[in-house]
Amino acid sequence: MKIHIAFWIILTNFSMLLTAQQADKPYFESMTEKDVIPTEDAVLNLENKVIPKEIYNEAILALEHYPELWNTAITFQFKDNIKKSTMQAQPRWASFLKSRKKREYIILISRTIQIDQDELSFSEVPSDVVTGWLGHELGHVMDYRERSGFGMLVFGVKYLYSGAHIKEVERTADVYAITHGMGTYILKTKNFILDHANISEAYKERLRSLYMSPEEVMHLLEHD
Ligand SMILES: [Zn+2]
Repeated sequence: MKIHIAFWIILTNFSMLLTAQQADKPYFESMTEKDVIPTEDAVLNLENKVIPKEIYNEAILALEHYPELWNTAITFQFKDNIKKSTMQAQPRWASFLKSRKKREYIILISRTIQIDQDELSFSEVPSDVVTGWLGHELGHVMDYRERSGFGMLVFGVKYLYSGAHIKEVERTADVYAITHGMGTYILKTKNFILDHANISEAYKERLRSLYMSPEEVMHLLEHD
């Protein structure tokens, strides 16, 4: 048991050292370095996607912006409640030890959004806002695809403890969505949350402090 823990500590420290060197790279620089796979005539492969009917149209629309995800298995799944967020993209543990190319992903969607008194049901969220939300999550999947299994473990640990890391990760997901033509949807999603009278201030504050602001998204769209 002790050896196990020691090994784990060495492993995480060593890997943090490795990733620390890359952490200061500007996001756009690292974005342009990534290979863009040429798009095929059909941009959507539904054989490896699982989509609940409540968000079917929105998920299809979002997926059409990411032809690179053709071979990537993704399951969209509702969950009763997700801590601190409305959606969450993560690798499937069962596929974790497989090669990067065979790794599968799951996007969890909360049925309710945290608001002050009662609950805002997901079904009350406008379609474009849902599309933007899904576009952001698919941005996370794009980011995860670039990481090794080991890199994903490190990533998970850092996400728990580092605000700066969360900021970078959330920004990367937004930039992926924007560069894939989903900027206006992303903007609608952000504005929906920030302008919604009933969504809790704590939720909004988290969005303001850790996520790209609507102004910044607009700035990027103007320079597209
Ligand atoms: Zn996110």
